[in-house]
Amino acid sequence: MNGLPARRLLLVHAHPDDESINNGVTMAKYAAEGAHVALVTCTLGEEGEVIPPALAHLAPDRDDTLGAHRVGELAAAMKELGVTDHRFLGGPGRFRDSGMMGAEQNHRPGAFWSAEVDEAAAYLVEIIRELRPQVLVTYDPDGGYGHPDHIQAHRVATRAAELAAETTYRRDLGDPHEIRKVYWNRVPRSAVEEGFERLRAAGAAVPFPGVASPQDVPGVVADERITAEIGDEDGRDDFVRAKAAAMRAHATQIAVDGPFFALSNDLAQPLFAREYYELVAGEPGAAEGERERDLFAGVPA
Ligand SMILES: [Zn+2]
Repeated sequence: MNGLPARRLLLVHAHPDDESINNGVTMAKYAAEGAHVALVTCTLGEEGEVIPPALAHLAPDRDDTLGAHRVGELAAAMKELGVTDHRFLGGPGRFRDSGMMGAEQNHRPGAFWSAEVDEAAAYLVEIIRELRPQVLVTYDPDGGYGHPDHIQAHRVATRAAELAAETTYRRDLGDPHEIRKVYWNRVPRSAVEEGFERLRAAGAAVPFPGVASPQDVPGVVADERITAEIGDEDGRDDFVRAKAAAMRAHATQIAVDGPFFALSNDLAQPLFAREYYELVAGEPGAAEGERERDLFAGVPA
């Protein structure tokens, strides 16, 4: 219909690096399988903290050039995952990182958190109607951990999916398209416990000054809520290696060491080799009580 592959996956994220941490394995897998994988990032992540001392000058309270730098990091990460379609909502710099909840940056002009949801969603409607994805991945309503840009990304993605399907909405943005399945990024409690158990077992060998706590992991829910699980199969580890490489490409934000990583707080966290999802709209493609191993399961060819 539009010259794109038969299976099309759209992911909506708040900042460069969120996609690699949450969905690196999933994106690498579907890109390798020839599906169309499209990433829409809502801000440049201008308010992030900078890990390497040599790049400290990029920070928002100094040169304020972190956004442009992170555009390059994201491009490098997408190369590692084999993803060629990555875009910024409304174009690079249209919406700015809002900082942590309660920061004065939340209400600065251009901040994503202050954007009108419908106005921001219109940019995404145009992309949805162009790419016609069957599957959408985004955050839960709390954005996984309450960051304003993550909450807003959830709202904008959810609203755009609705509007894209509406036959009377903005036909100048393309023909209506209904997304078949919508997933939220999730992590089952047992995977978090296992991950932190690995960290404890590694003890002094953990290459970071401290250890995070399970509460630092976004989107954690009871195992029963998980409906899909994606990872390397058959003893391979290609996709998790691609994920680690993609995370490493976000060098201002993430330090990766073996099966662990740390954000700017320098606290070690487990790097999850498997990624988990909760289906919130559409028909499950697995039997009741079983997890899907394919986000496109049940989607008609
Ligand atoms: Zn983020």
